[in-house]
Amino acid sequence: METKQFKAESKRLLDLMINSIYTNKEIFLRELISNASDAIDKLYYQSLTDNNLNLYRDDLQIKLSINKENRTLTIEDNGCGMDKHELEANLGTIAKSGSYAFKNQNEKKEDIDIIGQFGVGFYSAFMVSKKIEVVSKKVGAEKAYIWVSCGADGYTIEETDKKDVGTKITLYIKDNSEEENYDEYLEDYKIQEIVKKYSDYIRYPIKMEVTRKELKEGSKDEYEDKKEVETLNSMIPLWKKKKQDITEEEYNSFYIDKFIDYEPPAKVIHSNIEGGINYSMLLYIPSHLPYDYYTKEYEKGLQLYSNGVLIMDKCPDLLPDYFGFVKGLIDSPDLSLNISREMLQHDRQLKTIAKNIEKKIKSELESMLKNDRENYEKFFNIFGTQIKFGCYNDFGMNKDNLKDLILFYSSTTKNLTTLKEYVSRMKEDQEKIYYACGETIDKIDMLPQVQGVKEKGYEILYLTENIDEFVLKVLMEYDKKTFANVSSDNLDIESKEEKEQLKKINEENKDLFSFMKEEIKDVQEVRFTHKLKEHPVCLSSEGEISTEMEKVLNSMPNNQNVKATMVLEINENHEIAQKLKDLYLNDKEELKKCSKILYNGARLIEGLNIENPTEFSNLICELIAK
Ligand code: ADP
Repeated sequence: METKQFKAESKRLLDLMINSIYTNKEIFLRELISNASDAIDKLYYQSLTDNNLNLYRDDLQIKLSINKENRTLTIEDNGCGMDKHELEANLGTIAKSGSYAFKNQNEKKEDIDIIGQFGVGFYSAFMVSKKIEVVSKKVGAEKAYIWVSCGADGYTIEETDKKDVGTKITLYIKDNSEEENYDEYLEDYKIQEIVKKYSDYIRYPIKMEVTRKELKEGSKDEYEDKKEVETLNSMIPLWKKKKQDITEEEYNSFYIDKFIDYEPPAKVIHSNIEGGINYSMLLYIPSHLPYDYYTKEYEKGLQLYSNGVLIMDKCPDLLPDYFGFVKGLIDSPDLSLNISREMLQHDRQLKTIAKNIEKKIKSELESMLKNDRENYEKFFNIFGTQIKFGCYNDFGMNKDNLKDLILFYSSTTKNLTTLKEYVSRMKEDQEKIYYACGETIDKIDMLPQVQGVKEKGYEILYLTENIDEFVLKVLMEYDKKTFANVSSDNLDIESKEEKEQLKKINEENKDLFSFMKEEIKDVQEVRFTHKLKEHPVCLSSEGEISTEMEKVLNSMPNNQNVKATMVLEINENHEIAQKLKDLYLNDKEELKKCSKILYNGARLIEGLNIENPTEFSNLICELIAK
């Protein structure tokens, strides 16, 4: 018989499982039971449309049995089964879901975390087994097959006999080692305990023959073994239990299993709503961005149940796009079982539920922001961009809903802050909310304009994400305060006298400026400023489009070559100002070159490209050589 090799990535995972030093090995049973339950689900759904399948719902079950002599534990289901090809495809390669999570992790320690938290499906059984046999007969097929593997060396598949449709997995439990007591997995009590812990909510009965000691009939002190088949799980869906009866571990384990993640969620939202429409919601905010979140493959949505029976796996209408990262489910006895996807979209009850879900998520986030700032900031660092997009999209339709959930970095607190907090700290004479844009906090902090405004004692919000400034544009104002980019030309932080004085100086030098402007055609204006403290120059923007927005808009695929209207501002208090005036009188050729250097330098400060870097560098070298 031919022994086939596992695919390379599966082999690595297998090695890990077999040699695992992971302590929580018992989760293998959760994985196998969950697979069995899925297989029964599949068969059950098929039976709803296929009249040839005579299925009795009451017969559907998962059977466990222990054989101590042979050291085996079997898990048997009467689900859909697998044919030869499926055995090969499903058990010869690691599951898609698992492999993704797995690929992203390289460190040994993280590998172990993955096993623990995610389980990586079927293969986790190798943590406790020296050999695994899978006998399966697919629904509608004549032949059954047996898949056998002792781990890394590969596997074999052969035809075999099996009467009923379904899958029977036999685990040959490892022998005890110094570190590990594998015998436990051959004990009734241990298996009962594991099932209760991780698989209690499974919808089909998990049955096992349990041995109990009972008093012999007619005897007072003599016991005998009584065997009885027991159902180990309560079959009550987790979300239907009372909140106080559910442990954090149960919530997390359910999430990891159901929504395929390898890390516990950041937040669980569970409530039962009674009223016009009755329903339960169990929602999870993941603790990291789903790996495929920004791909086309990612589908937002919640599972939809009608009285414990799944009617849709991902109902997108239940979540607004900006909360698309939320996972979870809704269960309502008021929803009809055979409602179609199309009808659902127009369902009034569903719309009401969706509204409530949105409100609930929002209020949970608000209370997290208020009472658990540290975790809110963690959340925001991961999903903040979504909230910002939610604010911006649809022409700002949801902005009022979301504006208080947004955080920006503050120059004053050196931390994340809300707009509300910013406004509460505003100086008495301050009319605008100041902000500055750039690639990183550090780079923004170095901007000449920023230093000037900070010097005057004003707080500045540092915007580092592309979307940020667009969000402020859409908000237009917060608490009647408008926003001002410190790089815009109308900052209004000078006093009336200061402004008058500057106006006069600029008037006196207007010939110098128009000469300079001739050399650097891209700017609308050249002028002196007093806002720069010790820095010599900066580029400011005039009007709606800032230099930052120019960068973002032009990096988009349908780039329309947007240009910010720019002003070159020169620090009148810097020695360079006098030098320019002198050059204008005595050496206009030299002034042309200096204008170019100043302008291109200012572009670099703003993080903009310069058109002719070679010329720029040559001009500087010429200066150095003088
Ligand atoms: P996952 O469950 O995450 O897909 P597994 O490695 O646990 O990964 O299982 C791989 C695949 O094998 C499953 O998706 C399923 O198609 C198939 N499978 C596993 N167990 C069974 C079973 N008991 N009955 C039918 N198919 C099964």
